[in-house]
Amino acid sequence: MSVITVPQLTDNYAYLVVDDASGKAAVVDCAEPAAVLDAVGKRGLKLEAVLSTHWHGDHTGGNSALAAKVPGIKIYGARAEGGRIPALTDPVDDGDTVKVGNLVGRVLGIPAHTNGHVAYYFASLKALFCGDTLFVAGCGRVFEGRAATMVASLNKLASLPDDTQVFCGHEYTENNLRFALTVEPGNDALKKKYDWARERRREKQSTIPSTIAEEKRTNPFLRTDSAEIRANLKRVNPGLSDDSVEIFAKLREMKDRF
Ligand SMILES: [Zn+2]
Repeated sequence: MSVITVPQLTDNYAYLVVDDASGKAAVVDCAEPAAVLDAVGKRGLKLEAVLSTHWHGDHTGGNSALAAKVPGIKIYGARAEGGRIPALTDPVDDGDTVKVGNLVGRVLGIPAHTNGHVAYYFASLKALFCGDTLFVAGCGRVFEGRAATMVASLNKLASLPDDTQVFCGHEYTENNLRFALTVEPGNDALKKKYDWARERRREKQSTIPSTIAEEKRTNPFLRTDSAEIRANLKRVNPGLSDDSVEIFAKLREMKDRF
């Protein structure tokens, strides 16, 4: 039970990262502290840190309450978010490490959704917490960076080991897969995943985690070199080049309107 999913708000997820040996835990993003503290209390864990992925309120809205309720709790978040993470105690940069009991996580700078967006990667758990940058079959909106910045951030995540579990910030899977099928309808892995995700959601089950390997097979934003995606995009955008950033930007624009 090294990672525990705690649903938040309508479609957000917080995650408890647990060092089973010591019972110490950190929460990745928190909007609703009551649900997080309840999950911690039920299992007799000791919450010692918050790992904020980016400043948006649906990911950090619970920080101040946790700081008030849990004496000594550390609140990690990117220095590059420029002071917008509430109750921040431990600013981090790309390449830094964070500790949860004896577990060590690496901070990966993955800007574009926000300028200081980070992921936390725990190699020993084969687990990646990537907030609103990489979603199952999708990616975050490019709010503060440029398309090229997001492509670089996604490539950084895609270069992690194939069996890395992907824990993202929202349950957007079904809609993402529906969009993905419009640009790559011939992808069998995608069709299978869509059927699976619909079934999961019908049963009110989470579709997370995914894996890096699965994302490389099904996520259109990691598949800008797919001949089928390129052909479909060029059919409606005849002037489109083969530049992967340009393909990405067009896909993102289409998804924004989907
Ligand atoms: Zn966000």
